Amino acid sequence: MCAEFEIQNKIINTFDTGYTDEFGLRELVSTASETMTSLKISSEKKIMKRFLKEVTKTKDSLAVYGESETRKALEIGAVDILLLSENLRKFRVKLVCSTCNYFEWITISEDDLEEFNTPNCSKCDNLMRMEIEDKIDLIDEFSDLAEKTSSIVEIISSSSEEGDSLYSAFNGIAGILRYPLDN
Ligand code: ZN
Repeated sequence: MCAEFEIQNKIINTFDTGYTDEFGLRELVSTASETMTSLKISSEKKIMKRFLKEVTKTKDSLAVYGESETRKALEIGAVDILLLSENLRKFRVKLVCSTCNYFEWITISEDDLEEFNTPNCSKCDNLMRMEIEDKIDLIDEFSDLAEKTSSIVEIISSSSEEGDSLYSAFNGIAGILRYPLDN
């Protein structure tokens, strides 16, 4: 049964108790929100366990992780479920050289971006630093990529040990593949 349906059922069960006064209503809303939270965490745990099981496979693994590997897999439409840590605070930044128009995309953390000195152009003799032309939140970039190939996006919190491992061990970006990728 899909998680959403399960949640719906639980909420209907929770609400179907005939509360009428304001206190009852408040209690009801708070219970529903607690139920939602615990259901969300347990569904996150479940999906992370599935991913971690794939990671340990030495053959035909359906796991992919890390920014560039996951991006590559998304671009060829191989990702079934994209896992993004909600703690991810990074940006994809487009640097452009005003002389030769050479551009490149780099990834930088939110903290580093504040005092970021853009590099000089590596393709020409321009002594001016490259300019930031575009800036996209990494979660948005990956969500857009996922949408293009109909991958499911799961934003994973650090509320469980499994969820936290996505951020601490896999840099916050991973995926469960539709088919194994040969290396
Ligand atoms: Zn240049």
